[in-house]
Amino acid sequence: MKKFSSLALALMLVLSGCSSAPNNDTAKFKAGSYTGSAKGNNGDVVVEVTLTQDKIESISVKQHEETAGLGDTAIERVIDEIIKTQSVQVETVSGATNSSNATIEAVSAALKEAGVDVNTLTPQSSNEEKVAVEDTSADIVVIGGGGAGLTAAIEAADAGAKNIILLEKMMQTGGTTATAQGMIAGYETQVQKAAGDEAISYEAMYDNLMNNALWKLEPELTEITVRNCGKTIDWLMDRANVKFQDEVLVGYGPLKMMHVVDGLGVSLIDELTRTASEAGVDIRTENKAVELILDDNNNIAGVKVETNGQTYTINTKAVVLATGGYSYNPELTALLDPEKEGTFGIGHPSNTGDGLIMASNVGAALTHTNHLMAVLKDYEIMKDHNGTSNSANISRFIAQDNLVLVGVDGKRFVDEKSGGYMTQLLNEPIFDQMHKQGSEFVWAISDVASLEAAEVKRGADLEFISANTVEELAEKMEVDVNALTETLASYNKYASEGYDPEFKRTTFAPLTAPYVAVKAVPCEIITYGGVARNESAEVLRADASVIGGLYAAGEVSANSAYMGFTLSNAVTWGRIAGANAASYISE
Ligand SMILES: Cc1cc2nc3c(=O)[nH]c(=O)nc-3n(C[C@H](O)[C@H](O)[C@H](O)COP(=O)(O)OP(=O)(O)OC[C@H]3O[C@@H](n4cnc5c(N)ncnc54)[C@H](O)[C@@H]3O)c2cc1C
Repeated sequence: MKKFSSLALALMLVLSGCSSAPNNDTAKFKAGSYTGSAKGNNGDVVVEVTLTQDKIESISVKQHEETAGLGDTAIERVIDEIIKTQSVQVETVSGATNSSNATIEAVSAALKEAGVDVNTLTPQSSNEEKVAVEDTSADIVVIGGGGAGLTAAIEAADAGAKNIILLEKMMQTGGTTATAQGMIAGYETQVQKAAGDEAISYEAMYDNLMNNALWKLEPELTEITVRNCGKTIDWLMDRANVKFQDEVLVGYGPLKMMHVVDGLGVSLIDELTRTASEAGVDIRTENKAVELILDDNNNIAGVKVETNGQTYTINTKAVVLATGGYSYNPELTALLDPEKEGTFGIGHPSNTGDGLIMASNVGAALTHTNHLMAVLKDYEIMKDHNGTSNSANISRFIAQDNLVLVGVDGKRFVDEKSGGYMTQLLNEPIFDQMHKQGSEFVWAISDVASLEAAEVKRGADLEFISANTVEELAEKMEVDVNALTETLASYNKYASEGYDPEFKRTTFAPLTAPYVAVKAVPCEIITYGGVARNESAEVLRADASVIGGLYAAGEVSANSAYMGFTLSNAVTWGRIAGANAASYISE
């Protein structure tokens, strides 16, 4: 997230073909520059609108904190449309509705400042003709332009495939990879050697990953991920010119294995996109794959694509599915694992599970769909305030040593400080509790002193519930007062004794009045299950037979990973899928 300085990064979009300005009697606008702002996802979007007497001349962005690679592109697109149509009646960008709306509102505010009634600005046609799309053919089609897809396309090109089309449904390549922190686990890399770090063994890396993932991963696939993770980092440096920080960090376990991409996920995507383009890959943004086509032998024969309201077919013998996970599709999540019913999607908006749906429609098996990473968020903000991961963030509330979680019956049900496999050990009892009690949330409780000391504030300009007594707290939470009184008294007794006989909690701090409470719900951010694949990244049916010509890599594919290895899962397996797809078409 960046705050743009007004001069250096101002976005200027100027309409060409100006007509001469009318005299003051016929002036449509009062010429000048006007500023407007509106709340975006992560902060204010501030724009300056420059008007001549007869038109909206230009719009520059003075400040925004929208997500790089998604919100910022939406701002640019919306401004472009406003200038083209000379109106604020423009469409929002799919997947970036909040950023789009904030831009429209900020421009409207600036126009209002100039005395313009925006309702009188009827959209002018942009005179842009719709180009008719045609069916075509390709050697390989890669679906998805995140880390996995771009890597697969590069590797396929390097393996000799010529006519590679990469379909990306969003306005630009990136997906979740662009928003990643850019931490990639690896050993025996050039970065480690240059830093003079102690060597790490394969066994130590494998055990660390499996321990972190509670030994829930498939051993054969995990072995490939681990054996190649260092080579993946070297490949990114040598083939795609990705830069890594000099220092390798200790993270997610005791090993010094975390390589951090300079410029994080955004620069990883920039370099991969550039490398893929230079390798001759035909990257088609705003082209959404909607269906896989099989031939009479049930092998891949093509892909149906939607773009600009039209549909076309690409005939091809090989497809690499790299559409990411489904962490923005809670309905699909609940369908695949009813245990997760009630979650909200806070992953990348492009991660709607298209690849899982398309693949299962042609007979692919889905596995590990009971595993995902979820983060506790503010339920009311998610539900009633168009919440985002940022606006509904309560992670510092949850991190309090005196955090107590209770169900709507006012009773504890879990060791609140437990966790593991990216918090599934905490979230699963929470989902269980919600379902058992027919509730869409659980209550998180702390106290005013702790939250003030940690400067924890609630998002969306809201205040947490606070109460001077347990009785008042119970009334505001609408839970049974006796149950809550008993729960908090027991908790404080356990905290003073340092032992929790009910749930075996070991980390405590006492709760003291006045108390604070908020409704919390686990929201999915990374999914670990997906399309079943074998060691060659070939997609499998439930009987373990291969769907000829169909490959999968990255978050769309099953074999739950872990932080540092999810990017590896994309890049390492993107390489495997791309190389094997190239070899398949040459057979
Ligand atoms: C905030 C955050 C931080 C993270 N940080 C790290 C980290 O530091 N280290 C780590 O190891 N992991 C991290 N992860 C996880 C990791 O980023 C992802 O698992 C990985 O980037 C997934 O890559 P991918 O290529 O499979 O999917 P994506 O990068 O999501 O790419 C999928 C692409 O497919 C496109 N697509 C989807 N459907 C279609 C369709 N029908 N037609 C055409 N295109 C389509 C999407 O638009 C998208 O561009 C993080 C995740 C999050 C949410």
